[in-house]
Amino acid sequence: HVVYRVLVASKISRSAVDYLKSQGFEVVEVHEPSEDELARLIKGFHAIIVRSKPRVTRRVIEAADQLKVIARAGVGLDNIDVQAAESRGIKVVNAPESVTQAVAELTVGLMLALLRKIAFSDRKMREGVWVKHEAVGTELKGKTLGLVGFGRIGRAVARICYYGFGMKIIYTDRQCNIEAGREFNAECVDLDTLLRTADIVSLHVPLTPETTHLINEEKLRLMKKTAILVNTARGAVVDTNALVKALKEGWIAGAALDVFEEEPLPKDHPLLQLDNVVLTPHIGASSVEAQDQAGIEVAKKIAELLK
Ligand code: NAD
Repeated sequence: HVVYRVLVASKISRSAVDYLKSQGFEVVEVHEPSEDELARLIKGFHAIIVRSKPRVTRRVIEAADQLKVIARAGVGLDNIDVQAAESRGIKVVNAPESVTQAVAELTVGLMLALLRKIAFSDRKMREGVWVKHEAVGTELKGKTLGLVGFGRIGRAVARICYYGFGMKIIYTDRQCNIEAGREFNAECVDLDTLLRTADIVSLHVPLTPETTHLINEEKLRLMKKTAILVNTARGAVVDTNALVKALKEGWIAGAALDVFEEEPLPKDHPLLQLDNVVLTPHIGASSVEAQDQAGIEVAKKIAELLK
């Protein structure tokens, strides 16, 4: 009878650690070890849990002798060499459900911050300027929301915007989920139609070769001059240089971005000079509830896989 050992290599919720212990696992907690340390530590562990750090590189994976599961308490797998893991029969799991509501709420928050000029007004007030007349905004009610990607997060945004704000929803996806769209009276259209029609274009596709620079100069030119672009997906889904041009030359009215092609965003980046832009530092998943839930979601997956 083996006692399975789980290495928790970045801080996860107490409830997730307690759950693992309740399943009879031996849990060792360390804080984001370096590659060298991790390659040394990993021996004898059956599962490892990480967040966006530490990196689980090929070297770490090859140093492991008992490893069966690599779990990311969160979504992105950028810090895990998935190929190296799979080639050794090690499963890689993550917690995509846990962050859905957090990202959806931030997305809507960004829409409001941009359209009601909340961030702009706050900035100006701190400069001692009372921008009452410059800060006339537009409402969400009755506007058309175009969702690029109608998966978990896209649908969660649709739910808030349809029920909460009375928006009209359209979406585009590799596979139209007609059934899911019905709840929001949402129509599935092609990308170009969506870009020409929507007042708010919100991106919710994963970053893949097909979605890299999906929103390029040609696509930005299809958008209405009054429309805004919201990106809480991945920075490289948008061609940032084209976006800066679009914002400066008024092809679109504004952009709200949580993700960037280069993170952290360089200090001298042109986006930082523009008033019709709202920026957050990749905090879509950063809610207390999402972090807790991410730990629990992967703990359960580990228990399932090891048993
Ligand atoms: P999901 O897999 O549930 O949904 C993605 C949808 O995109 C799917 O319906 C899929 O069919 C569609 N899609 C994939 N490729 C496409 C293409 N080429 N053209 C059109 N549609 C395509 O994923 P999700 O949970 O909704 O997350 C969406 C994305 O949000 C993630 O991939 C991630 O990049 C991003 N995200 C960001 C944060 C953040 O902190 N800002 C946090 C979590 C996730």
